[in-house]
Amino acid sequence: MASYCSALITAPDTRMWTTAVDEDTMKKNLLLFKKLICGALIAGTAFITGCGMGGDGSATQADQATTITVYSSRKEHLLKPLFDQYTAETGVQIRYITDKAGALIQRLRAEGATTPADMLITVDVGNLWQATELGLLQPTESTTLDANIPAELRESENRWVGLSVRARTMVYSTDRVTEGELTTYEALAADTWSDRLCLRTSKKVYNQSLVASMIDTLGAEQTETVVRGWVDNLATAPFSNDTKAMEAVMAGQCDVTIVNTYYFGRLKKKQPDAALALFWPNQADRGVHINVSGGGITKHAKQPEAARKLLEWLSSPEAQRKLAENNQEYPANGGVKPSAEVASWGEFKADAMHVEAAGRLQAEAVKLMDRAGYL
Ligand code: FE
Repeated sequence: MASYCSALITAPDTRMWTTAVDEDTMKKNLLLFKKLICGALIAGTAFITGCGMGGDGSATQADQATTITVYSSRKEHLLKPLFDQYTAETGVQIRYITDKAGALIQRLRAEGATTPADMLITVDVGNLWQATELGLLQPTESTTLDANIPAELRESENRWVGLSVRARTMVYSTDRVTEGELTTYEALAADTWSDRLCLRTSKKVYNQSLVASMIDTLGAEQTETVVRGWVDNLATAPFSNDTKAMEAVMAGQCDVTIVNTYYFGRLKKKQPDAALALFWPNQADRGVHINVSGGGITKHAKQPEAARKLLEWLSSPEAQRKLAENNQEYPANGGVKPSAEVASWGEFKADAMHVEAAGRLQAEAVKLMDRAGYL
């Protein structure tokens, strides 16, 4: 426990919240947490039960019954309303820490059996795959999850389950791209797109998963030819994020890019008149690449049953609607419709590949993009 507390105190970027606390209070608590020794914090913030342990280091019975700890790379503003609702409905407190996926995975590794985390929530199959490869998640048998979430969005050994869906698709300039010009991801490698393409960096897991999905369908050789073509067609160096790539299209630097749908939704919300539109590629063959945000029970969860119930609740229609709507994503639960705004982007055929394959082929995709000179 001492090492856990000192790790928290020295972690500069980690955010730690619990439910039913306003943001100012949470920030104050975080500051306090960094300045005070763990014992002092117990007195001030009794609900932070990672520190609320008995003298022998064991959690008290009451804590075991009422508190779940979640490590999440999803932003606090997306999760807090849901966690607050769950707490209000069940009385179960949720203590959560937000950080980047890589940092949380490393932290789970370092903490091993002493981790306070019962659940990991993160985005992209690439990250979920890595967590399973490192043995950080445990299987969760649940007929509720089986019923709510389609099999292709769940890990085959039930170590994680998709909680929302995003499509990685094309966004183009409505001023400079004519109807019928866009067809497939592969076609963006053709000469007609020379100096007209913008891409986000290959270092981002989203692009690694996209290329992994192409390897799964096209094979490595053809995929490498395509990625080399993309690199040849770049109008400018890859961008650090999807929004910057779309802004480059708006500025006339390039005509088309590839982004996750919710970034397009965010940009359109701020700039409704932006001369940009979504395009769904590969509708005549495999469909658009989709990916998930998802969650799983940690290998060393102290509250695996309580965590499973939370995961099941997150897969329920009401929670799914809110979770998807909060970030303009698609619900993973097939029985739940997307928000009106997301639905307005039109229906599309999604790649039916089991999303897990994108994780399995992740390392190969990274090497391929490296060989192709995609930075
Ligand atoms: Fe994102």
